[in-house]
Amino acid sequence: MARYRLPRGMRYATLEERKKFYSEEFSVKKVGEWFHNATGKVRFAVIIGRHTRIYPRKYHEDAETTIIIDEYEDLNDVRGQIVEFEPEAAYYDRNVYDDSARKIGQELAFDLDPENVNCPVHGSLADKMKRGQGLSFCKLELEMVKEEALRLYEFLENHFSRMRIAYSGRGFHIHVFDKEAYLFDYKKRLEIARTAKKKGFAIDEWVTAGEMRLIRLPYSLNGLVSRTVLPLEKTELEKFDPIHDKRCIPNFLDRQATTSS
Ligand SMILES: [Zn+2]
Repeated sequence: MARYRLPRGMRYATLEERKKFYSEEFSVKKVGEWFHNATGKVRFAVIIGRHTRIYPRKYHEDAETTIIIDEYEDLNDVRGQIVEFEPEAAYYDRNVYDDSARKIGQELAFDLDPENVNCPVHGSLADKMKRGQGLSFCKLELEMVKEEALRLYEFLENHFSRMRIAYSGRGFHIHVFDKEAYLFDYKKRLEIARTAKKKGFAIDEWVTAGEMRLIRLPYSLNGLVSRTVLPLEKTELEKFDPIHDKRCIPNFLDRQATTSS
């Protein structure tokens, strides 16, 4: 656990904290708003303890498994199932399916993570990997990746009109909700990903091309850093400070995060 270097105030959430968060704080209403335009039934997913190795003992066998939640009555039911797993992470499937579970589209998304930026102090991702710190990041990297998210958003505005930004707990996601983008084929997605990378954006090609179809669920808990996944307006991004912004600090951490020195 100590080998992950994180900005001050960020740390793994305990099982108890995860349970408390999903029982008391997780907003089903806000999640519903996020999906208000969704076509078909959204599939959710959790990972219990792949990175943190923190998991309820009874789920030892499934700690690293991606568990799909696609049988549920409503979002409250989804919440109940998440509480049961006490997961380190919750996601949704960007694929859109028809009634016979056939894939008919996919939400286009961009994933910017702080470990992918070249830090003047900690170096490139390759440098960090060499030290076994591939998931580590610092405050400076967080700030740099935020600037990059803003620039990427502005670049994408030339092509798309319905986008949202979400702070993922580590970096930022840009979600594209333009109708035509749902219908892009793999080739087109790959082309967009490569163009963005050529422009210097440290995005995860796998996410944009669509091979990785899961993306963090807005308003869920990122258990690696104890932060809530938070949708943001573009205008909020510049001033957004994930270390101190109360909207992304779960209740169980509030006091510690704001008073630690
Ligand atoms: Zn750094």
